Amino acid sequence: MNSSIAIDGPAGSGKSTITELVSRRLGLFHVDSGAFYRTITYYLIEQGIDFNDEIKVLNAINCDLLEVIPGDGVFKILLNGKDVSDKIRTREITKAVSPVSAIGCVRDKVNKIFRRLSSEYNIIMEGRDIGTIVLPNAEHKFYLNASVDERAKRRRLELLEKGEEFTFEEIRLDIQNRDHYDSTRKIAPLKKAADADEIDTTSMSVEEVVEDIVGRIKKSE
Ligand code: C5P
Repeated sequence: MNSSIAIDGPAGSGKSTITELVSRRLGLFHVDSGAFYRTITYYLIEQGIDFNDEIKVLNAINCDLLEVIPGDGVFKILLNGKDVSDKIRTREITKAVSPVSAIGCVRDKVNKIFRRLSSEYNIIMEGRDIGTIVLPNAEHKFYLNASVDERAKRRRLELLEKGEEFTFEEIRLDIQNRDHYDSTRKIAPLKKAADADEIDTTSMSVEEVVEDIVGRIKKSE
């Protein structure tokens, strides 16, 4: 059986950065589950498909839309053969992704891909429902959290680095709205798995969080 680690947490809790570093330390494939929801959101917006019409969404995504190519410790996601990874982290996509990821057929589609990846590779997967729904039997589960102010600060810097400038208040509100949407939706809400270790990263450096996680995994081996 392949090994799997689940990392969940709200927006800006440090999941992506930490997961990438831990994946390299432990030689696991990093699966960024949010990137799959973002890619589908990008496609629906590009095609002008109304998210409220589940039949139209189902028809739009009901083919070999996404292709997953294993690379150097990560998976490249291709949308109809094209790499759109530089287009899926804009504020527009970030604001639209929560309603899209709450649609049942969208979750079914990506979960099928995740199940295949977890059966074929040793993975560390980050997201919202990984420890609860996608990998309930993961060997290790972590739930990262941080204060909303700290998360807004991190997200603002991240966007600034890409040339997108928004006020702290705008980003803070986006994060609060997304947290609310993700944690109150009916299907697979953002939730700490009962058997996950919770880590508050508010006043921790990236290196400290990585050491903490790697240390806990090694200790239990
Ligand atoms: O992690 P990231 O911010 O890229 O995730 C984008 C969005 O995708 C989240 O706000 C959430 O709505 C959705 N998502 C999800 N389940 C996951 C991962 C992400 O619903 N496992």
